[in-house]
Amino acid sequence: MLHERSAGAVVFYCEGKCIEYLLLLYGAGHWDFPKGNIEEGEEEVETVRREIFEETGIKNIAFVSGFRHEIRYFYRKMGDVVNKKVVFYLVRSYEKEVRLSSEHKDYVWLDYENSLKRLTYNTAKETLIRAHDFLKSIGGCP
Ligand code: ATP
Repeated sequence: MLHERSAGAVVFYCEGKCIEYLLLLYGAGHWDFPKGNIEEGEEEVETVRREIFEETGIKNIAFVSGFRHEIRYFYRKMGDVVNKKVVFYLVRSYEKEVRLSSEHKDYVWLDYENSLKRLTYNTAKETLIRAHDFLKSIGGCP
């Protein structure tokens, strides 16, 4: 069995008091959050910062402290089973303009309810539920 570790973020933008979340359409066809492989010697938050920039061009961000959620799933890669762990942080973006890399086919900013509908996998939906609840518990968009 192969093992992979990625790190990513539930990225949100405050449109006044309304929270919008950033979702990406992956080449494989699923809607998910920005994320990517943790490289040798990299801290999780460094991966998150790097991946957000590489995948969306967004640089002006702030981590919301106190949120960290890990998921695990299995998928098949050329006959091998991959056991993958992905850790998600909660990140506020101060920019809305997105410059996609060739890795993704599309992006969208959506409110909570529509993000929940759009996300493909249950583990991603669960991550969003936790992130949204956390954000509300600390007052939402200030
Ligand atoms: P990364 O963004 O971490 O570099 P990647 O783009 O190589 O990853 P994944 O998004 O992990 O790849 O997708 C690899 C496979 O796993 C795809 O077939 C995808 O459909 C599936 N997959 C992705 N997320 C999940 C999930 N949360 N639950 C189950 N399967 C998933």
